This record gives sequence, C-alpha cells and structure tokens, in this order.
Amino acid sequence: MDLGLKGRVAFVAAASRGLGLAIAEALAAEGATVACCARSDAITQVTAELATRFGVRTLGIVADISDPASVERAIASCIETFGRIDVLVTNAGGPPPGPFESHTPDAWQKAVDLNLHSVVNLVRGALPGMKARRWGRILNVTSIAVKQPVDSLILSNSVRAAVTGFARTLANEVASFNITVNNLLPGYTKTERLVQLGDSNAKAKGISREAAFAAWEQQIPMGRLGEPREFAALAAFLASEQASYITAQSIAVDGGWIRALL
Ligand code: NAD
Repeated sequence: MDLGLKGRVAFVAAASRGLGLAIAEALAAEGATVACCARSDAITQVTAELATRFGVRTLGIVADISDPASVERAIASCIETFGRIDVLVTNAGGPPPGPFESHTPDAWQKAVDLNLHSVVNLVRGALPGMKARRWGRILNVTSIAVKQPVDSLILSNSVRAAVTGFARTLANEVASFNITVNNLLPGYTKTERLVQLGDSNAKAKGISREAAFAAWEQQIPMGRLGEPREFAALAAFLASEQASYITAQSIAVDGGWIRALL
C-alpha cells in the first residue's frame, strides 16, 4: 500500500532515540521529509543518518520541548527550512515513576510541562499552516495508561489523561479542515525508558531487572515486549492519506495488555 507520504513534511518531537526515532524512521522510509528535535545536538547526527539511509530530506533541531520558547523556535525552524508541517508527532520523554508521596509540586509541574504543555505548544505552532492548507495529521504519543492506569506511574497516568481530553476536543474543532488528531498508546516497548522503569521496579521490589521484565511479559497476552518499529508502523499509517477518516481515536500497540473490551 502506498501511504501517500512522499513529499509530506513531518515534525517528530523527542526523536533522538526510542519511539520518536522509530517513528521518524518509519516516516522517512515512506519518503516523507522529516524534521526531528531533541535536547542534545546529537540529533543532527541522527537526522543525517536518516537522510543517508532513506534518501529523504531531514533536519535536526536542538530543542527542549518542555520550554514554550524552545518549541516555538523549533517549529519556526522546520517551517523556514521546509515551508510547512503536514504531520506533527508530539512525543516526549516520560515523567519519573514513584508513588504519590514521592513527587514534589515541582515534579508535578515538570510532568505537566513535559507531557501536556509540550503537546499544546507544538500544536499551537503547527496548526495554523495545516488549517490554511486544509490537510494535517496530529499524532500524540501517550500511553496504555489512558485506558488502564499503570502502577507506580501516577504522574504519567494523570497527565496523559489531560492530553486525551485535549486531543478529543481538538479533533472536533479541526475535523472540517481535513486534519485528524489521534493518540498512539505504546504498551511495554523496548526502549531506554523501559530499561529505566525496569530498574526502578526491580529496586522497589528487591528483584533483578530480568525478573522485572519477566513480570511485565507475564501480563502481556503476546508474552513479549513490543519492538519500537511495531509501534511506529501505526504512526506511519495514521499519518497516511489512507487514514483520512480516522480521527479522535486512542489506539494501543500493546500485545493485548489492556484488559478492556473497547
Ligand atoms: P525514551 O526515554 O527512550 O526516549 C525519549 C526521547 O525523548 C529521547 O530522545 C529524549 O532525548 C527525548 N526527550 C526527553 N525529554 C525531552 C525534552 N524535554 N525535550 C526534547 N526531547 C526530550 O522514551 P520512549 O520509550 O521512546 O517513550 C516515548 C514516550 O512514550 C514517553 O513519553 C514514554 O513515557 C511513553 N511511553 C513509553 C512506553 C515504553 O514502553 N517505551 C510505554 C508507554 C508510554
């Protein structure tokens, strides 16, 4: 299936590794022009490699997406270089784990800045052009936590719910402009974030990292962790021309982990 992404311009936030990088790779593999941001200037090496591997135009932008001014500059840089943004992927790192008592007011503020305000600010920058051209795809990377809260991730569970409310409302507001807004819900997927969570779980329970991973695998009907490319395939499809009538959805890639009917 031709996803119709050749010539489209995608902006992928927080894409130096993990799920963001996998999404950037999937979009580049479909021929999209890809701008990626991350906090360190290593991002320029990452995007240079994407350009070589897939023969597409890329741009690496150093930006901290929890800082509104930095987001504004990053979006402006992409638009200045490629003229527009057709596909916006709002991704970020995850907030720290731990029970309620372990998080200070500052930790809550940081989680809101990183995982909610970043989405709002990225959308604020990319949406006017999408509306003017009457075409757009907004993909928010959230979490399985929006359908079934994950133990010891109270910051993530709380803030992702806010993003889901934002996205569901925005989807209605922009649907008539042929702009879709969807949330992608990763399950337990092999990235550095998961290693950090595994170590934190192992420490809290006095078990090994391997035992912490095995406990997760037992909760997953497919009996294994996900690969970033399996998650990224959904992003490529939702970004595509073919996904034009799919909006306001929260779709999990979790090997069956969520136990709900819908
Ligand atoms: P990761 O930690 O492996 O990678 C996160 C990326 O975000 C890195 O490139 C990092 O440099 C970048 N980043 C972090 N803070 C940033 C900031 N302020 N500005 C710019 N870039 C920043 O994480 P991941 O596993 O790829 O997860 C991506 C998102 O998906 C996170 O929000 C995570 O919580 C969520 N998630 C992941 C899983 C999983 O199993 N991997 C499951 C559910 C939800």
